[in-house]
Amino acid sequence: MSELMLYNTLTRRKERFEPLGPGAVGMYSCGPTVYSHQHLGNMRAYVFADLVKRVLGYFGHDVNHIVNITDVGHLTDDADAGEDKMEEAARREGMTAWEVAAKWTAVFEEDLKRLHVLEPSRWCKATDHIPEQIEMIATLEAKGFTYTNRDGVYFDTSKEPHYGELARLDLESQETQERIEGVGDKRNPSDFALWKLSKADGNKRQMEWESPWGNGFPGWHIECSAMSSKYLGETFDIHTGGVDHIPVHHTNEIAQSENAFGVRPWVRYWLHGAWLMFDNEKMSKSKGTTVTLDDIVEHGIDSLAYRYFLLTAHYRQQMSLSDAALDGAQASYQRLVRHAIELRDSDESQGAAAMEGFKSRFDRALADDLNTPQALAVVWEAVRSNDLGAVEKWQLLSGFDVVLGLGLADANLLVPTIDAEIEAKIQEREAARAAKDYARSDEIRDELIADGIVLEDTPEGVRWRRG
Ligand code: AMP
Ligand code: ZN
Repeated sequence: MSELMLYNTLTRRKERFEPLGPGAVGMYSCGPTVYSHQHLGNMRAYVFADLVKRVLGYFGHDVNHIVNITDVGHLTDDADAGEDKMEEAARREGMTAWEVAAKWTAVFEEDLKRLHVLEPSRWCKATDHIPEQIEMIATLEAKGFTYTNRDGVYFDTSKEPHYGELARLDLESQETQERIEGVGDKRNPSDFALWKLSKADGNKRQMEWESPWGNGFPGWHIECSAMSSKYLGETFDIHTGGVDHIPVHHTNEIAQSENAFGVRPWVRYWLHGAWLMFDNEKMSKSKGTTVTLDDIVEHGIDSLAYRYFLLTAHYRQQMSLSDAALDGAQASYQRLVRHAIELRDSDESQGAAAMEGFKSRFDRALADDLNTPQALAVVWEAVRSNDLGAVEKWQLLSGFDVVLGLGLADANLLVPTIDAEIEAKIQEREAARAAKDYARSDEIRDELIADGIVLEDTPEGVRWRRG
């Protein structure tokens, strides 16, 4: 089998993946802040982490996968200002912060299931690990990396000579900025909160805990350092997240962890997924440009067609969401499902000779930093190949699906009905046109338009999309 190469943000290079030890690969993925719906951009990050895990499994590794649920401490501004997102949502929704967390965690987990994202080995919530976070802050304090101000306990980034290496941060330009804008109670612009003190302004927080520094709550970054290392050890193999995590969240996780545990590097491979764009911007709650899985399912898009859509781009490539892109993915996904069903039900064989070529090309594509668009191209070549019988194609396809996670090998896979009807109507219209029965062909076209289906004549034949 090919050697697995992964692009490591730490070195900005593709590196051969070599696990730390003989046991399971330790992998931590930053999970959601559960104050509202996760949008399709968020879900891209989790499908990406799922892909990493599935590929590791495919290449023979056991994976100990930890995903956190941020249910406290993530402020509306990543720079430690603003209100706690959970407390704000609780006020807005008229629920307790705990109810908000439970509600949106359940919705998130349901969306993951619909996208065939495998369960992690362990979920961990920030609020279940307050003592671990306090202990880690106390260690950093004892080692001289912190200071306390009116707002709470802060990490002093000037004490960490390697600070910002992951993001290749330009600290000098930050300091220039600091002279212009000031840094409030912080000593350096990049310093960040480890523990925030509850304010004595009469607005009692719902989520707060006692600590050696006073009542308050943990900063956002400390949870990931404390929980990942509790379950994976003080150094581990892989950490994933979105590219937006590089300059602040992951940079701060590294600074805390390397100094608290006295290890470097703390994590060997940092993998980051690119953004899902919408209307030329990052899909984002703060900009109000969000589309959820429910939204597209209501418009007739299969949730696994969204997974297929994600696999059509490399994880480090930005993708743009559009109706046309989703319709295209839906059509391809449903075509693949129809092939899978046909192949499954056939016993036509041509012998195994040609299989190895396809399998090794599929493996090579994945081994090359998870190149899923190339892997999908091999899937389609295999499905259309004249050198393979149905039996061999089915065997390949069900093997590939261990990584793709498109449910192609599910025993209860059904022919997609709605789209099959549309295809049948289009064929009927083609037949009518061939027979010069234009009245009937126009009638069918009008029926389809009434159903919201737009037909386009292309050199490859008639294509359709939802209008
Ligand atoms: P948040 O709840 O904002 O911390 O985001 C949760 C996860 O979704 C993080 O891993 C982010 O990097 C990721 N994420 C947020 N917006 C997008 C987007 N538009 N495209 C891809 N990933 C995103
Ligand atoms: Zn994190």
